[in-house]
Amino acid sequence: MKYDLLLTGGEVIDPSAGLRGVMDIGIAGGKIAAIAPSLPANEARRTISAKGRLVTPGLVDIHAHVFVNAHDMGIHTDQCCRTSGVTTLCDAGSTGSSNFAGLRHMLDHEVRTRVRAFVNLSAIGITGTSRGGELSHFPYADPEGCARIILENPDLAIGVKLRYGPGLVWEYSTEPVKLARKTAEMAGGVPMMMHITDSPIPLPDLIEHMKPGDIVTHCYHGRAHGIMGQEKQFLLKEVVEAQKAGIIFDCAHGRSHFNFRMIERALDQGFLPDTISTDLTMTSATRGPVWDLPTTMSKLLHFGMSLDDVIRRATSAPAKIMGYEGTVGTLKPGANADISVFELRDGNFEMRDSDGDTIIAKRRLLAQLTVKEGRVWYERPAE
Ligand SMILES: [Zn+2]
Repeated sequence: MKYDLLLTGGEVIDPSAGLRGVMDIGIAGGKIAAIAPSLPANEARRTISAKGRLVTPGLVDIHAHVFVNAHDMGIHTDQCCRTSGVTTLCDAGSTGSSNFAGLRHMLDHEVRTRVRAFVNLSAIGITGTSRGGELSHFPYADPEGCARIILENPDLAIGVKLRYGPGLVWEYSTEPVKLARKTAEMAGGVPMMMHITDSPIPLPDLIEHMKPGDIVTHCYHGRAHGIMGQEKQFLLKEVVEAQKAGIIFDCAHGRSHFNFRMIERALDQGFLPDTISTDLTMTSATRGPVWDLPTTMSKLLHFGMSLDDVIRRATSAPAKIMGYEGTVGTLKPGANADISVFELRDGNFEMRDSDGDTIIAKRRLLAQLTVKEGRVWYERPAE
C-alpha cells in the first residue's frame, strides 16, 4: 500500500503552495506523499471523502494562551485545537523565566498539539492578578532570564513577549519596548511580539523601536492609540510604512482586542492583518466572543477578505514566523500531514466582537475533520 490515508475529492485551498481545485491527497508515514486531481484508492489503507468540503493545511494560531495564570487551556489545549482544525499554535507569553519550566513540562507530557511559545519579558508571565500587570513592578522584568530561556529551549521558545498597556508596564515611555527589543537581541535576534491595546502612548512611538519580523499584536483593537490613532478614521502612515517594511500585524481577537468598526475601516483602506489569530483562553473559548480560530476567520470573511487571504494568514504565514516554513501550514508533498477539512456553511450566524457589536455573517467555517501527522485527530459527529 502506497498510502496510509487518502483524502479524496475535496476543494483544496493552499494559497502559499499555489494549490486550488478538487484534489486527492495521499498520506504516508505522517507526511503528505502526493497531491493530484486523482490518486488510486486501491493503494490506500483508508479512504475518506472530502467531497463538497474545503481542504486546507492544518490551521496555525500564532497567538493563544495554553498556560496563562499557569493553567488555563492547559490539558484542554488538544480538545480546543482538534475540534477547530488547529494543529499548531503559539503560546503568546503566558510564562516568563520563573514559570516557563511548568509550561514546558505540560507540553512535553500532556499535549499533542504542536506548540511553540513566546517568553514573557516579565519573570512571572501573565498571571492575571488584579494587583497590577506582570511588568507594573519593574523588578519583575528579567531580560537575562528571558534570553536564557529562549537560548536553552530552541525547539519551543521563539521570541520575547511584551504586553504594553495601562497597568501592565512600569512606566509609560518607550523604555519597556527598548528593553524587550534588547532582550530579543540577547536571545540571538529573535522576534519580539508586542501587545498594544489601549496604549498610553501613540503606536508610532512604540513601533519606531521594533524591527522587521517583530509582531504588533491586537492590531484591530478599538481602544486608545491603535493603528488609526485617536481619531480612529484613517490608518496612520507610520503603520502602513511599518507593515511594508516587514513588521507583522497580528489580529489576536481575544476578549478585548477585536473591534468590527476598526476592521471594516482598516480593510476598506487596504490594511489586512499579516496573521489571523485568536488570543484564545479557556474563557474566550467557552463563553465567547472568540470561540475558536475558524470563527475569527469567518468574521474576517464577512468583512470582505477573500478565502485565499484568510487561509494563508492562518496557515503558511504564521507557520513561517514560527520556524515551520515548508513543514507545517502547507500541503506540499514532504510536509507534515496536518490537514483540516471544513464546511463553508451558509446561513445567518450572529457573531460578536470584543466590544459588544454584532454582525449576521452569511457564511461560516466549521471544522469537520482534523488530521495531524497523518492520523485522524478529530471527526465531527453527524448532526
Ligand atoms: Zn494574548
